[in-house]
Amino acid sequence: MVELTRTRDSDALSYDVERVRADFPVLSRLVHERKGKPGKPLVYLDSGASAHKPRQVIEAMSRFMEEDYSNIHRGVHFLSQRATDRFDAVRGKVARFLNAPSDNTIVFTRSATEAINLVASSYGRTFLKEGDEVILSVMEHHANIVPWQLLQAEKGIVIKVVPVDDEGVFDLDAYAGLLSDRTKFVAITHCSNVLGTVTPAREIARLAHERGVPVLFDGSQAVVHRPVDVQEIDADFYVFTVHKLYGPTGLGVLYGKYELLKKMPPYQGGGDMIEAVSFEGTTFKLPPTRFEAGTPPITEVIGLGAAIDYVESLGREAIAAHEDDLLKYATQQLSQLEGLRILGTAPGKGPIISFTLDGVHPHDIGTIVDQYGVAIRVGRHCAEPLGERFGVGASARASFGLYNTRAEVDALVSSVRAVKEFFGA
Ligand SMILES: *Cc1c(COP(=O)(O)O)cnc(C)c1O
Repeated sequence: MVELTRTRDSDALSYDVERVRADFPVLSRLVHERKGKPGKPLVYLDSGASAHKPRQVIEAMSRFMEEDYSNIHRGVHFLSQRATDRFDAVRGKVARFLNAPSDNTIVFTRSATEAINLVASSYGRTFLKEGDEVILSVMEHHANIVPWQLLQAEKGIVIKVVPVDDEGVFDLDAYAGLLSDRTKFVAITHCSNVLGTVTPAREIARLAHERGVPVLFDGSQAVVHRPVDVQEIDADFYVFTVHKLYGPTGLGVLYGKYELLKKMPPYQGGGDMIEAVSFEGTTFKLPPTRFEAGTPPITEVIGLGAAIDYVESLGREAIAAHEDDLLKYATQQLSQLEGLRILGTAPGKGPIISFTLDGVHPHDIGTIVDQYGVAIRVGRHCAEPLGERFGVGASARASFGLYNTRAEVDALVSSVRAVKEFFGA
């Protein structure tokens, strides 16, 4: 993981997780309160599915609605201009967050899913034809598989799949072997939502670029854990979702190199994205506006700005060091449980631990640990081909965020012990 900044132990030591936790109102609530029985403290280990929001984000969004809210890019009135300025400022903030070269390379979408669909539809339909090959990896989220399969059904493109080894490491040699003159697009996760594997993004892009092939990275699980620099990676497209970055739902981000975005036709038509409309013909604005038809999620964009400010105030390297510490500790503690198998042990992985327990269905693990207040994800994690690769249908997944603690790891481990005892496993 060359392109991700290495962390120092001293960062983890100076990180005041209790102060961080105080920023998240939900973390102080109890769950499963029953008559006569006090509830259990919430142990939230499901940030990989969606992260909680700090007070700074919640307040920025309500303050915006109370004080500055209006539709944007239309009105001449005071509030519309004010809302427009605040909205546009966040685009710049996102550009700096990814080290994108300019604001107009940042497109706001409804989700990471929509961002990938935008590229598959707009770029894919225009520039890919029958027999052209698109390379994905076996550890893609369904959001980075199904849009390409829709294109396959429509255009007859061919999908090639890069394997991972038993540790979950991306097989760079196999990838290099799949690249050929037929390859016309590469779309790979930057961090697996199941294995935690961080892919060698810069190398993936370099090899594709040798053949003039553009690369999209799905960074939904990467930006939340580590600094990401799209120029250093040399990503052509980079996608992430905001609700996992401590911001609101309903908003995703697409970064695209401007010369590529400029060549791409609109994905959806409507207001705001047009230059002039007549029944003889309509002309479109330049990117990113071309790809933002209709009223965008204005309040959510303000929330994203606050989320970026929040993450940067803690320091992305400090967050990474803290989460690495949790990952190491949790891996070590869980590994001591007999019959527990961790899926994905790639060096440099993100703070995500998927596991199975001999003789126990993952849904039972999830249900029982929940009785102890421990929230984990169980199921196929929107990555069914990967489960097949590791010979498991479903699995349990604990994912860590900037607010988790070693004590919460202990709570997870003791609740999994209780599962083992319950099943005599
Ligand atoms: C969550 C996730 C997505 C989809 O994000 P949405 O917000 O649901 O669109 C895509 N890829 C990865 C790796 C994810 O973790």
